[in-house]
Amino acid sequence: MSNCGSKCSSKAAKPAQPADITQFDFDRRRFLSVSAAAAGVVLAPGVMLYGVGAPSPAHAHADHGADASKRWGMLIDVNKCDADCDVCVHACADENGWQGTHDRPASDAQWIRKVTVRDPSTNHTQSLPVMCQHCAEPPCVDVCPTGASFKRADGIVLVDKHICIGCRYCMVACPYKARSFVHEDVQDQKTHAPRGKGTVESCTMCVHRIDVGGTPACVEACAEKAGGAMMFGDLNDPTSDISKHIATYATRQIRADLGVDPGVRYQNL
Ligand code: SF4
Ligand code: SF4
Repeated sequence: MSNCGSKCSSKAAKPAQPADITQFDFDRRRFLSVSAAAAGVVLAPGVMLYGVGAPSPAHAHADHGADASKRWGMLIDVNKCDADCDVCVHACADENGWQGTHDRPASDAQWIRKVTVRDPSTNHTQSLPVMCQHCAEPPCVDVCPTGASFKRADGIVLVDKHICIGCRYCMVACPYKARSFVHEDVQDQKTHAPRGKGTVESCTMCVHRIDVGGTPACVEACAEKAGGAMMFGDLNDPTSDISKHIATYATRQIRADLGVDPGVRYQNL
């Protein structure tokens, strides 16, 4: 028998309504965001996963660097990509600090990888680099419970390490296996590409370069040291080299049937 007297209600407590769930979700996101901004985590001397009271590097890019009139993308000519060449992979690892060391071999990071495809009817094989395809309709963003996975106004899809809780839903949702989880402590980080144990990461389209008018490291290295198979540019600008190429030559998106509209296209695939 209850002894709470007049403070007790005779009605049973109502189950949570959808509005309550929405409010909880909002409050949780705000909590995670505020907690992150208030705390700050030092990953290495001079490298912070996020700054005290400052926006995260990823969302800082979103707020200040993105131009909604653009859609950044890539075109990769597979005929110019040698099977035994991995210049783009090493360029990305060097640029973004995920290559590992002698003592600590490279992790299973998936920023960019070479993939071999085979036509079963002819046994003809081709080799191509695959990285985050910076989808216009990214399922990784749809499933992220905290908003850590997000798309910028210019089409670049990023992970905000401030609020990534490491649930890995996005890794499951990505049809291109383009994301990886950081299982181990990380060292020798680059200030422009913060990484953190327990968070998910993927190709950033070298947003730190793009926002100052540069070119992604893999594209640059391929042009300078390999076959010049990679082209970067604005898919929304009909006068850009990449748009002119796409208008002139047959190109394709990997698994275009999925309807996610990748920003990375392939020629001669
Ligand atoms: Fe997201 Fe995967 Fe598409 Fe990249 S390739 S935007 S990680 S769904
Ligand atoms: Fe790596 Fe930059 Fe190329 Fe993406 S654009 S695969 S982050 S080098």
